[in-house]
Amino acid sequence: MATDASDPIPPHKTFDTILVLDFGSQYSHLITRRLRELNVYSEMLPCTQKIADLGWTPKGVILSGGPYSVYWDDAPHVDPAVFELNVPILGICYGLQEMAWTFDNKNVLAGEKREYGHAYLKVERHGDGEAGGHVDKLFADWEDNTEVWMSHGDKLGHLPEEFITIATTSNAPFAGIGHKSKKYYGIQFHPEVTHTPKGKVLLKNFAVDICEAQTNWTMSKFVDQEIERIRKLVGPKGQVIGAVSGGVDSTVAAKLMKEAIGDRFHAVLVDNGVLRLNEAKIVKETLTAGLGINLTVIDASERFLGRLAGVKDDPEKKRKIIGNTFIEIFQEEAKKIAAEAHETSEAGEIEWLLQGTLYPDVIESISFKGPSATIKTHHNVGGLPKDMNLKLIEPLRELFKDEVRELGMNLGIPEDLVWRHPFPGPGIAIRILGEVTPEQVRIAREADNIFIEEIKAAGLYRNISQAFAALLPVKAVGVMGDKRVHDQVIALRAVETTDFMTADWYPFDGAFLKKVSRRIVNEVNGVCRVVYDITSKPPGTIEME
Ligand code: GLN
Repeated sequence: MATDASDPIPPHKTFDTILVLDFGSQYSHLITRRLRELNVYSEMLPCTQKIADLGWTPKGVILSGGPYSVYWDDAPHVDPAVFELNVPILGICYGLQEMAWTFDNKNVLAGEKREYGHAYLKVERHGDGEAGGHVDKLFADWEDNTEVWMSHGDKLGHLPEEFITIATTSNAPFAGIGHKSKKYYGIQFHPEVTHTPKGKVLLKNFAVDICEAQTNWTMSKFVDQEIERIRKLVGPKGQVIGAVSGGVDSTVAAKLMKEAIGDRFHAVLVDNGVLRLNEAKIVKETLTAGLGINLTVIDASERFLGRLAGVKDDPEKKRKIIGNTFIEIFQEEAKKIAAEAHETSEAGEIEWLLQGTLYPDVIESISFKGPSATIKTHHNVGGLPKDMNLKLIEPLRELFKDEVRELGMNLGIPEDLVWRHPFPGPGIAIRILGEVTPEQVRIAREADNIFIEEIKAAGLYRNISQAFAALLPVKAVGVMGDKRVHDQVIALRAVETTDFMTADWYPFDGAFLKKVSRRIVNEVNGVCRVVYDITSKPPGTIEME
């Protein structure tokens, strides 16, 4: 992992940064996302972060919400040094209560009833008229009676000393408070969720007007600084190897490496025999001819399919075989490339392994899980063994998925690829229920190709989050060309989702499904029926195995 020590120019040293301290709310990461959408760079760290260890100074700090009550014995508390940073601070929900707790002698108590859902906010100054003009800035451009979203049970006993009320709801007399002379604010509602329509305006008021953070976080700026960062990290002779899959993340990461160090980056595509129709060929063309990436394609189909033969009833076993065989082949290839590179060029040893880790993985590993839970260590190393002795380079580790897409567009990656649906590592092996044989692979591939082709032709590809055809290992009777046939069944699956945690099946119209079904039955040998999977997640999963 590129830690600060080895990292020559992390974004928080180049971009004005708002630090979000996470108290464990399920929405904490959304605060960071909203700020980034406003082109203000933001990072999230656990609330236990020691300010002295930070090594950089944020332009402002946001204390997130959280599931605890500040008056519990084991409740998490912020390092008091945060109030010595001399930067604006905004407390959201638990964050507001934490501020009141710190500033006003433990002045938080359990409310009589929980408040969950919508409330209407009245923006008005109460109390001491002597407070500075800064207190009015937080709610600039808010109309009265704006909808806000609440989720809390605790409340402030009274207004903390030196604070004034700046907003109320019928239920919450301290829905918004501001310090009379310092730029400290607290709000009881959640501005980061879409149920608070004006929330983004408030975050902008805080970050841009109050903290005076520059709005310069754009992917075109990020590209330049990231390329420089990679060059510094790897050095003038350093070499990097990384697996590519044809998906968005690995392609964007690979293109960034190519821009930074040219052919000293070695991309490897392992054809495991269960990629989509013509996938290896298409990825090769796009990455080499199109993007100029130094790519080696290894056709290992036989080894994979050989090991998958006979595996019928255990999807986990399929996944394991594919995962382990992948590691084995990648290691073999890494050795070869390293030996060759060393012989034929001035370049040094291959010391680095590229990983397409994204910010949600980083957040997942550092987010605050509660007083008793230990913080999970970073897990996304793609299953590659430590004995490869390679250092990780993760150029996307600060980015959310939508930022990766924007970066991809910036790097000239074709739009088609940038918006590609996710594709699982074990490929269509887990979309072929039952045994994976070359013949089953052919059927699943051809059917999938027709389905995706028709989705694109109908202009629906971007409305759907993931779509594929799966092959069911059962036989049904049909009549084709006046002859009785006994062939297999294709199940189509297409879902809409924002986070892949829950998903709904896509409501195609009948004419579309009719067309796809007719084409598959006519064009794919071995299929006589097509069904559409209308299971949402939960209880279904997106993939079939
Ligand atoms: N647990 C606190 C309460 O119930 C804070 C809740 C929150 O931050 N959403 O008031």
